[in-house]
Amino acid sequence: MTPYATRRAHLISQMQAKGGGVAIIPTAETAARNSDADYPYRHDSYFYYLSGFTEPDAVIVLVAGGNNSPTIQSQTLLFCRDKNPEREIWDGFRYGPEAARTTFGFDAAYSIDALNSEMAKLLANSPALFAPLGNSTKLDAQIQGWLQAVRQQSRIGISAPTAMHDVYTILNEMRLFKDENEIALMQRAADISAEAHNRAMRFTQPGMYEYQIEAELLHEFRKNGAQFPAYTPIVASGAHACVLHYNANNAQLKDGDLILIDAGCELDSYAADITRTYPVNGRFSGPQKALYELVLAAQHAAIATAIPGKRYSEIHAAAVRVLAQGMLDIGLLNKNTVGTLDDVIAKKTYQQFYMHGTGHWLGLDVHDVGTYREATLDPASEGQEKPWRHLQAGMVLTVEPGVYVRPAEGVPEQFWNIGIRIEDDVLITDNGNHVLSQTAPTSVAEIEAMVRNK
Ligand code: MG
Ligand code: ZN
Repeated sequence: MTPYATRRAHLISQMQAKGGGVAIIPTAETAARNSDADYPYRHDSYFYYLSGFTEPDAVIVLVAGGNNSPTIQSQTLLFCRDKNPEREIWDGFRYGPEAARTTFGFDAAYSIDALNSEMAKLLANSPALFAPLGNSTKLDAQIQGWLQAVRQQSRIGISAPTAMHDVYTILNEMRLFKDENEIALMQRAADISAEAHNRAMRFTQPGMYEYQIEAELLHEFRKNGAQFPAYTPIVASGAHACVLHYNANNAQLKDGDLILIDAGCELDSYAADITRTYPVNGRFSGPQKALYELVLAAQHAAIATAIPGKRYSEIHAAAVRVLAQGMLDIGLLNKNTVGTLDDVIAKKTYQQFYMHGTGHWLGLDVHDVGTYREATLDPASEGQEKPWRHLQAGMVLTVEPGVYVRPAEGVPEQFWNIGIRIEDDVLITDNGNHVLSQTAPTSVAEIEAMVRNK
């Protein structure tokens, strides 16, 4: 069984546990960029997770016979584009339903043109529809049409589904736990991305432009088979590093500046997400080094906390504790006015210099799906928020503390315009964790050596 077939079977069994029904998972639509030119096509992550199929205009339909409906047989269906010799001359190969069925292991496959008529048949007497709820006006309109077609047959004794479930909620929980196949792909995506960061470090010299460094990253991604950058790379030198989502990437690198690079590739649909910060001239200044080593210490504390049994929120808390203490020690925060470490944490005073979270789930999407809190409220905490969920083997997340110092009164001038982030991709394992992106160094000595040894 392919991993995709295993996941389809798993989804069907969960639909059965809810009484069975029909699930529909469409892929993404193409999007026009301007006349006659589309944006590069990227299939939908949920659809790909269940199929491995990358063509547009396709829909997965799963039928799950429930315990109460023994006559309904479970089956997996794919709707896709027909073969079209003329279009294939222009746009390239299409599987067509028959070849797609055998290649991707579905029980049956149909032309996408047959979707409306087949759905009306499949939904007849089905107890429930499992669909993405409120995600697409196009799909919502299609669902309305199918249900109306089924209801029109009520006089001959056919019933329409009486329940709707959000299929993404089920899939989000499945996608949060990576299987062996996914972990291998994510390791490779992280290896390629780490090597791209190393390439950028070796290439960097004062006087270059940020986009030239970006080109080195993209070169390394594509050279190794990655289909896309997983997100627009951030290549931010000097004060630009304090703009969290900077991506103009057009400034000249100045001797004495740091450069912050946040970039990862997407390999076979899986993302890497790595940030490194290093001196353009290969040598940290005193203030740069002090802040860099603070962020690195915070990252080490956070990664040490990313182990089974800890709650998700403890990673951020560990990073914040180290950063806040460092801000007091270094003098970014004035001990005489902000109070103790616990005051700084409780009042979130540290947010002047560290204003984002310490990570996110990583997978098919760079900010991957999955809840960060438990599904149910702790009965002992009536009226409170649901507790943060426990970390478990198979989860993959980023750990990315930073410090960003904008010029401000009371902030020592030697730290102004320094922006630092260090981000790694971490797989939670049975007895700890594994840093997927560890081949891109983070220590001051290794980084300085890599930038200087061209
Ligand atoms: Mg990132
Ligand atoms: Zn990230």
